Amino acid sequence: MSNLTPMLRQYHELKKQHPGTLLFFRLGDFYELFYEDAQTGARELEIALTARNKERNNPVPMCGVPHHAAASYIVRLVRKGYRVAICEQTEDAAQSKKLIRREVVRIITPGTIIDPQLIEPHESIYLAAVCGTGDTLAAAFLDVSTGDFRVTQACGTQAWARIKADLEAYAPRELIFPTSLAQLFQNAYAHGAASLPLQTEVATQRPSTLSDAKTVDRDSPPPSIDVFNLMTLTPIDDDAWRTQDCASLLCEQFGVRTLDGYGLAYKTEAVRAAGACLRYARETQRVAAAHITEINYFEPQDHLVLDSVTVRNLELIPASNNQDGHAHALLDVIDETRTGMGSRTLRTWLLRPSIRRAEIEARLGAVDELHRAHLKRDHLRARLKEVADLERLMGRLNMNTISPRDLLALLRSLEQVPQICQALSDAESSLLQILYENLDELTDVCSLIKHAISDDAPAKLTDGGVVREGYSTELDELRSISRNAKQTIAALEARERSRSGISSLRVRFNGVFGYFIEVSKASAARVPADYERRQTLSNAERFTTPELKEWERRVLGAEDHIAELETKIFKEVCEQISAHTKRIQATARAFASLDALAGLAEVAVRRRYVRPLMHETDEIEIVAGRHPMIEASSDEHFIPNDLYMNNSMARLLIITGPNMGGKSTVLRQTALISILAQMGSFVPAERARLPVLDRIFTRVGANDDLARGRSTFMVEMTETAQILHHASARSLVLLDEIGRGTATFDGLSIAWAVAEYLHDSAEHAAKTLFATHYHELTELAERLPGAQNYQITATERDGEVVFLHKLERGRASKSYGIEVARLAGLPSVVLARAREVLTRLERYELDVFAEEMKETTVAAPAQEKARKENNGEALEEPREAALGGAIKRANRRRIIAQATLFEATNQSLLDELRNIEVETLQPEEARQMLQSIRARIM
Ligand code: ATP
Repeated sequence: MSNLTPMLRQYHELKKQHPGTLLFFRLGDFYELFYEDAQTGARELEIALTARNKERNNPVPMCGVPHHAAASYIVRLVRKGYRVAICEQTEDAAQSKKLIRREVVRIITPGTIIDPQLIEPHESIYLAAVCGTGDTLAAAFLDVSTGDFRVTQACGTQAWARIKADLEAYAPRELIFPTSLAQLFQNAYAHGAASLPLQTEVATQRPSTLSDAKTVDRDSPPPSIDVFNLMTLTPIDDDAWRTQDCASLLCEQFGVRTLDGYGLAYKTEAVRAAGACLRYARETQRVAAAHITEINYFEPQDHLVLDSVTVRNLELIPASNNQDGHAHALLDVIDETRTGMGSRTLRTWLLRPSIRRAEIEARLGAVDELHRAHLKRDHLRARLKEVADLERLMGRLNMNTISPRDLLALLRSLEQVPQICQALSDAESSLLQILYENLDELTDVCSLIKHAISDDAPAKLTDGGVVREGYSTELDELRSISRNAKQTIAALEARERSRSGISSLRVRFNGVFGYFIEVSKASAARVPADYERRQTLSNAERFTTPELKEWERRVLGAEDHIAELETKIFKEVCEQISAHTKRIQATARAFASLDALAGLAEVAVRRRYVRPLMHETDEIEIVAGRHPMIEASSDEHFIPNDLYMNNSMARLLIITGPNMGGKSTVLRQTALISILAQMGSFVPAERARLPVLDRIFTRVGANDDLARGRSTFMVEMTETAQILHHASARSLVLLDEIGRGTATFDGLSIAWAVAEYLHDSAEHAAKTLFATHYHELTELAERLPGAQNYQITATERDGEVVFLHKLERGRASKSYGIEVARLAGLPSVVLARAREVLTRLERYELDVFAEEMKETTVAAPAQEKARKENNGEALEEPREAALGGAIKRANRRRIIAQATLFEATNQSLLDELRNIEVETLQPEEARQMLQSIRARIM
């Protein structure tokens, strides 16, 4: 250390105070990284790795990025899960002769990003905190950029499952938790544990400070499940989670004496989670974050629960890896909002649809009114287009990163309020009336900005010209001095020329000497006596005079002074606006909801959606329902379908039909319509009567999760287990193929049992849509009172399958797999062979059928006898018999298939044997032939 330069010593000092971060060390116009940070930075950012002190024995690895372009580099690192400490020069380099003072001014972590360049307008960035003791767990969620702050607590054996569901729904970018729970958390995520065994003995760890937080070792596999993929896990020292300290911090933040008003009485774990979350945000941002003005306590599952698997399967939001730029997700189809706040609100409604009928009806009522009133809607949306992202703007204002232009944007946004209120003044819907009341014109704030900030204020405060003329007399005077500098120079130059008689005399300026008088070498002898020599050049001499010095002092001083005064005034204006944070936030929230509602109304008009009828019974009745995304993205006409379900006769619909027929589409559109309705949107159908669902589960397709050691079938079964444990009578379950990832019998047996369970279970029976190619399952529908068979129709025309995409009662007999394979472009030789094999299989199947008919005929007298003994009533074939029958038939098909296929593969061999002309065969030829045959059958 002793042989380091003072600057590198300073670097080490700062690095020691901020472990676990990449230190962006400001050096002039660059941020530099050193040592290991440089190696990491160069690798991750793909920039050149150089070295400092190259000439010495001990070169220091280094890489750097220009400070004006740093944002894009920082965002790349933060997205990869790194924490970046920003170290600035905190004194003027020109003023300091010694080592410049440097300080870490902010730590940017995945969960605490606020810079507009680093975050998408339509996405909320949550930081989450989870802690717990005994069987109680709590989770807090904070969007630092807007101040949105929520907390929840759960207890009992299901606590972890419930908290995990919330974590999935909020999808935080970063999760902090007490260090002592580090191991448990990493295990729980890595293995997708259903419960978090908090009572387990945990390893005691050395207490550290909050800034000791480290991201999880990047070399180990990411501790992720599903949406946790993008989450950085940050253990925080246990000291930061002390209940009393957390409660005091929260009270201080909200300016209250007790947290009871926020529903946090006796919610110790919730207080700890919220307190630690807030502290982490404040310490990383290094500000008080006065825009975090309140916290909302919510009960877990107070919304329609959609786990991460369902969100992904139903494509509710765009996938993070969607590269093709096409709109595949439901959110893409329904987002017609005009502001970032509106878009985020819509996303929240979509991912957490309501389960409160009154809330759903209120939103539907508002959408309905805006749907009918075209002119009003257009007018509102035109006004909303002028509204900036006030939630984030207030975040920046209170975290000292606001720009002068932001204040102009705030003014322009608030200026829209009167016209929007005018449009809403005659609103009939209760929600629009409430929003009208919440919109505050904030005339005091508007007038302050109008008076203080000039119309063409720059983006950066340091560029000057921020404060309006007339706002500060002192500033105006200084500006006048500065502005008149040119005229004064010209006058002074003219005076000095005539005084000295030197016509080539010039008054000039440079950064080293300031203002000076320059005359040519030849004229230097003629300068007046009061000229003081400053510099001699090869062909000129430079002088100053007492008058010029005094004038320079005033002009240069004025410019520095102007900058200082503008900064001071700007800060004062921001502080005054900050005092109105709550009022502005309330208006921002009203704007956001109004934007989301007007957007939904616009979608309803453009896409011909209708208002769903929400009701208290258990029926789902959809007439001419459509799939919102397929309808929006395909040029072909979408064929609408009707669907009816209830909890009695139609609670399990088994849907069969050809590949590509539209089974998955019907399943998904039913769920999507329900979600749209519960978020408050109109739905793609001619008519829809819907109950309020509590959860939607989906099990769709095949997915490997090899990184976490789970095969396709394991993933399938894990998802199925989740459903069977958590479904209720108010849930909707979509099963799109179950048991396909294993042997036919295992798969069929599991599918059969799962369907029966969802039909029969006292606790977990749910409305279930089951799409399958196991045609054996259709027999279930004949045995279970609540099960019905549906098929998606197709027909054949000129030997080709034509998909009708129509859902009808009944069961399908064919899958048309080979036809679909043809459409997919399989080579014709493979298709021809497949057809040959299929024909053979079907021929044998007919034989089996004939055999079965024989058995049935033999069994008939016995059944007739039993019927007579049962007072003439036909006996219901027990389910076991049905299952036995189905399996027996499947078994036969399999054995026959194997025999048939074996026979098929050997057919060419047989043909060859038949064609041998034994009489003329030479011994050596016979030997070779036998060898070749043996090789082919081995
Ligand atoms: P598989 O059994 O092979 O999984 P599937 O029966 O589940 O097939 P889907 O995936 O639902 O079939 O549909 C296949 C395609 O058919 C869809 O992507 C869509 O393009 C089209 N399609 C489905 N339903 C309809 C419909 N009602 N109207 C128009 N096109 C439809």
